[in-house]
Amino acid sequence: MITVLKSGTTADQREQLIRWLEEHGVKVHVSIGENHTILGLVGDTSQIDVEMIKLLDIVQDVKRVSEPYKKANKKFHPEDTIIEIGDAKIGGGNFAVIAGPCSVESKSQIIEVAQRVKEAGAQLLRGGAFKPRTSPYSFQGLKADGIELLIEAKEATGLPIVSEIMNENHLPLFDEVDVIQVGARNMQNFELLKALGETDKPILLKRGLANTFEELLMSAEYIMAGGNENIILCERGIRTFETYTRNTLDLSAVPALHELTHLPVIIDPSHAAGRADYVKPLSAAATACGADGVMIEVHNNPSKALCDGAQSLTPGQFEDVMATIQRIRAAV
Ligand code: PEP
Ligand code: MN
Repeated sequence: MITVLKSGTTADQREQLIRWLEEHGVKVHVSIGENHTILGLVGDTSQIDVEMIKLLDIVQDVKRVSEPYKKANKKFHPEDTIIEIGDAKIGGGNFAVIAGPCSVESKSQIIEVAQRVKEAGAQLLRGGAFKPRTSPYSFQGLKADGIELLIEAKEATGLPIVSEIMNENHLPLFDEVDVIQVGARNMQNFELLKALGETDKPILLKRGLANTFEELLMSAEYIMAGGNENIILCERGIRTFETYTRNTLDLSAVPALHELTHLPVIIDPSHAAGRADYVKPLSAAATACGADGVMIEVHNNPSKALCDGAQSLTPGQFEDVMATIQRIRAAV
């Protein structure tokens, strides 16, 4: 349920109403906008007399929210959330590019890629240290050493870093990681989501291979319910009957999620396509349709990459994609 307060409501009046609502057993989420303040009520609202609240002087409107996600719901928070990471901003008209290798492999690799993607205009560096591989015999990532190397690349370039977590016990290793990624395979690892809800780190939450928008938003809600509202949603392709591409990029995620939620939405064309030559057209399409950013895999030597080489761009190809993105940003 949401309660929209009239524009002249004082802070005292607002706090009084919040206390009264909390005494009736609900949690109140406050969103103070330019024109209106919205009180979003989470919990069992059945004991609350809607008609009585509507009669209060300070109340403009009361509406029931039928969707199961509340804090992530645009109705609770009509203004777009902007996530700030160092100098980068994502959401609310701000666009950011995250680039880097699938996996951190060595110091020279991650430093070289970090320098090249920075020169090309990327705002954040990605690199996997804990890798969720389909086969237990494939390279699993450099783990804690990989995080250390990413931190060195951050120190060398100033780029904030993004890396995937697979287990909440690893959280202490992520202290200096700027954005924690939850991969597609862990989108519904609810214990992990709850643990991330207790941190104050921005979370990059990827859509699962076979999950609906509502399920993605419910996963965001798990993190937000714990108090962490810094979430970036990421569409990275879903499973369909098509096998020509690695996954099927569902670009409708951008307008649909922008309608349903205030959280920013970025596109990962690399995992969607699975092929480097499709990354440029898909990045262009993502930019044109209103995504708040893209995440692109870049490797200094894709043919030798320990993971996802076929979809990784060379730094030169990445520069070309950045130029296209910038042209499209200017045009739209
Ligand atoms: C990744 O970003 O390297 C990754 C493993 O992505 P996803 O979870 O989307 O497969
Ligand atoms: Mn990858």
